[in-house]
Amino acid sequence: MKQIVFISGKGGTGKSTLTASLSRIVQNKAIADCDVEAPNLHILMGGQVVEQKDFYGAEEAVINKEKCTSCNICRETCRFDAIDEDFEIIPFRCEGCGACALVCPADAIRLEKVKTGETYVSKTSRGTFSHALLDIGAEGSGRLVTEVRNNMKKHADKEDWILIDGSPGIGCVVIASITGADAVVAVAEPTKSGISDLERVLAVARHFEIPAYVCINKYDINLKITKQIEDFCEKNNFEVIGRIPFEPKIVNALRDLKTPIDADIPNIAFEIESIWKRLADKLSESDKKGDAAAASRS
Ligand code: SF4
Ligand code: SF4
Repeated sequence: MKQIVFISGKGGTGKSTLTASLSRIVQNKAIADCDVEAPNLHILMGGQVVEQKDFYGAEEAVINKEKCTSCNICRETCRFDAIDEDFEIIPFRCEGCGACALVCPADAIRLEKVKTGETYVSKTSRGTFSHALLDIGAEGSGRLVTEVRNNMKKHADKEDWILIDGSPGIGCVVIASITGADAVVAVAEPTKSGISDLERVLAVARHFEIPAYVCINKYDINLKITKQIEDFCEKNNFEVIGRIPFEPKIVNALRDLKTPIDADIPNIAFEIESIWKRLADKLSESDKKGDAAAASRS
């Protein structure tokens, strides 16, 4: 089973559309949406939710009033001002660090798990689909992403491919999205901010030694910046694996909840099929190199 994660330095570059489109082409695969803060892949995936679970990704202090002697030590200790004058915990301020429980002389404070989101597993016409939604204002998005990936492995252990719509940005959610992946595809648009976003997200992939490829979406809206992206990739040994042209019909297709493949937009479908072919070839090449290296060592 090979895991490919589609990432971008920011949202809105087209990585979810690319992931959903590939889910139409790739055989024997499962799909996961690791953008748990603003998931939208489920809109294009459809299907039936077969498992829904609350996710407890954080802890919060609870004070036992019967044991509390009002000594005030916990309030003096809490760096987040999360305990009020009546020794009640203020939920949105409590970080669950546990410092108050450690210093309480009356053993009156314990930490309790707090619900921070929900996970879902859906059966769709394109395969098993794992996704989640972080509660508004909740912490622990990285842990929720890890849960999405664990659910996917649990429900889809016979598939050849796992296509993961990664979280945007470069923070802990992205790291949780790409850890252990076989490859990442960074999707970028040719804009000034698109270049710097791409550089940052590729630096994350390189740091974790995950093979990274680049797909330039709407490459023809600014050929000068597309060339700059290509030059950057060449200089830093990142292969540009796809160039998707701007196509207004994609907007209409997405409005009808269709991928460019469903909507049969020939030039886009051709490019996306080519991207998959190149990617699958690259991954099988790296398998062969790995096998050869293992054979020479033995
Ligand atoms: S430290 Fe413990 S005993 Fe003291 S005020 Fe806080 S909860 Fe009450
Ligand atoms: S767990 Fe940490 S943040 Fe929460 S009330 Fe105790 S000291 Fe404050």
